[in-house]
Amino acid sequence: ESFEDMCLHTIIMKDIAFHEYTRPTPIQAQAMPIALSGRDLLGCAETGSGKTAAFSIPMIQHCLAQQPLRRGDGPLALVLAPTRELAQQIEKEVKAFSRSLESFRTAIVVGGTNIAEQRSELRAGVHIVVATPGRFIDHLQQGNSSLSSVSFVVLDEADRMLDMGFEPQIREVMRNLPKKHQTLLFSATMPVEIEALAQEYLNNPVQVKV
Ligand code: AMP
Repeated sequence: ESFEDMCLHTIIMKDIAFHEYTRPTPIQAQAMPIALSGRDLLGCAETGSGKTAAFSIPMIQHCLAQQPLRRGDGPLALVLAPTRELAQQIEKEVKAFSRSLESFRTAIVVGGTNIAEQRSELRAGVHIVVATPGRFIDHLQQGNSSLSSVSFVVLDEADRMLDMGFEPQIREVMRNLPKKHQTLLFSATMPVEIEALAQEYLNNPVQVKV
């Protein structure tokens, strides 16, 4: 499968070409059509496989299919990642594939950075939030962000998030999502704890392994 076969927005295609991604990596070829079809996905893939684009591109395409964002709205999509460094890498990639989209907004919400700045960004309204679980819950509790418009969720490196003790925060988010949402869960390993989480929160997921 090629990127051309995936029926992506022409502006996203332009950004893919700009980044000289000529062909999808194996995880992209397998996961993107499933994610673009609206189904839940359980992906077993490591860093370096191209998994960030595999979820970022369908996530941006999903946001473009929603109602235009009004001031203070959003986020429409949420990515949870275990560390600040990974969240920064993901946000960079999301920005790379939405750079030509006018007024497309993303925010990064991680610990150890200015919370007031994050608050005003969130309150202004964003399409996508990339966050570490602890800091995102802080913002939810302070009323700076909301789950009420989130219809696309990615749990990236879920095994590492559990190792770091983020299971309560992940469950808090998953429990409070609107009923209609799509979930993509990526993990390098599939221990029973991840299988249990997927069983509980994913809806008839397609499994992909590279
Ligand atoms: P990731 O596994 O998402 O961290 O991606 C690993 C690296 O592969 C990153 O530097 C990406 O920019 C690059 N990459 C991802 N997809 C492609 C592709 N289809 N063609 C070329 N490079 C890619």
